[in-house]
Amino acid sequence: MSAQLPSGNEKRMPPLNAGKKWRVGVLGATGLVGQRIVSLLANHPWFELTEVAASERSFGKLYAEAVRWHLDVPVPEAARNLEVKGLDPILNCDFVFSALDSSVAGPAEEAFAGAGYPVVSNSKNHRMDPDVPLLIPEVNAAHLDAIPVQQKNRGYDGGFIVTNPNCSTAGLVLVLKPLADAFGLEEIFVVTLQAVSGAGYPGVASMDIQGNVVPFISGEEEKMESEPQKLLGKWDGTRFIGAGLGLSAHCNRVPVLDGHLECVSLSLKKIASLNEVHEALSNFEVEADLAALPSALRRPVAVLDEDDRPQPRRDVQAGKGMAAVVGRIRECPLLDVKLTLLSHNLVRGAAGAALLNAELLAARGFFNRRVKAEGKESLAESVSG
Ligand code: NAP
Repeated sequence: MSAQLPSGNEKRMPPLNAGKKWRVGVLGATGLVGQRIVSLLANHPWFELTEVAASERSFGKLYAEAVRWHLDVPVPEAARNLEVKGLDPILNCDFVFSALDSSVAGPAEEAFAGAGYPVVSNSKNHRMDPDVPLLIPEVNAAHLDAIPVQQKNRGYDGGFIVTNPNCSTAGLVLVLKPLADAFGLEEIFVVTLQAVSGAGYPGVASMDIQGNVVPFISGEEEKMESEPQKLLGKWDGTRFIGAGLGLSAHCNRVPVLDGHLECVSLSLKKIASLNEVHEALSNFEVEADLAALPSALRRPVAVLDEDDRPQPRRDVQAGKGMAAVVGRIRECPLLDVKLTLLSHNLVRGAAGAALLNAELLAARGFFNRRVKAEGKESLAESVSG
């Protein structure tokens, strides 16, 4: 019998900081990832959207007019009438999410961090910086210890940058984590089948992808081969030490709307039966403090036993898009084990990942309230919660 997929509805959250929410700005709020963040912020128990920013194309318009909305739910009321701002770091908020195109994200994120804003980023620009945490809370929450070093290195006063991984890396590493803990990992070979929404909007031209597969995604294989090393590695107090895994990735774009499927073969340091691998994955449970975060799942990896699952159309919404769904665990004639996994590229791989990172930062006391003084935002009280 197959395990039931998590719905993501199991939790009721107490409000943080006695009901006073953190004010949030979203840079790149009009893009595919940005609008997912805007949507996830509606009715969030800890965060409220107060600012949206994007390019000159959108500048000065009301959000509802500027955005080309792609979600099935309407634009949230709290966002509709916000005026879209530019990338000057003078926004009325306590921290920002960055879902900016990578052509502008690098310097914009540095400018916001330099002006005292915590930046919770989706973009690739700072992921591999030697003092920037690349974070999946269920995998490497201890990497947040790099933040004070980053602030000291860069002279940031209250601001900092934290990033989430590339969309295909996010699902892979979530599934690798329990296996690394239980058995140790040696080599990983992965072939991806990635959804078109991973390329932003309008993404791949319909004439290129309709009835077709494109066996190339610029820069993707390099990210998949480097980011897991940092995520599964350690922060030693001064620098990140990579996990030293053998890793090879083949990345393909397929005509699927949402959900990256990945076929993985791997070798383990310790000999394990298929049952033990199945158990390690299906019993993977996060600590109570992480499970208490509003967007977290106590069990972020779901295992299905049917021969033909996971499938993007049927399984991508598992755990409201925050679960990695694994199936087809079997012996590999070349390495030790092979399996198939699926994760939602725009939720677990982008907007939901950033939201979970921000929730962890809030819970661990990394945010400060900013107050307006003579038209300028500045740091006020330090509030941990
Ligand atoms: P997208 O749909 O192309 O959106 C890009 C956003 O950046 C838009 O809000 C756009 O504003 C803004 N922007 C572009 N040029 C700008 C400029 N010169 N100044 C200010 N804002 C500018 O891309 P996306 O898919 O949402 O991806 C956003 C970021 O997340 C990228 O760095 C991407 O690599 C990363 N990411 C994406 C995914 C995914 O699955 N799609 C997953 C993980 C990470 P306008 O609308 O005003 O042009």
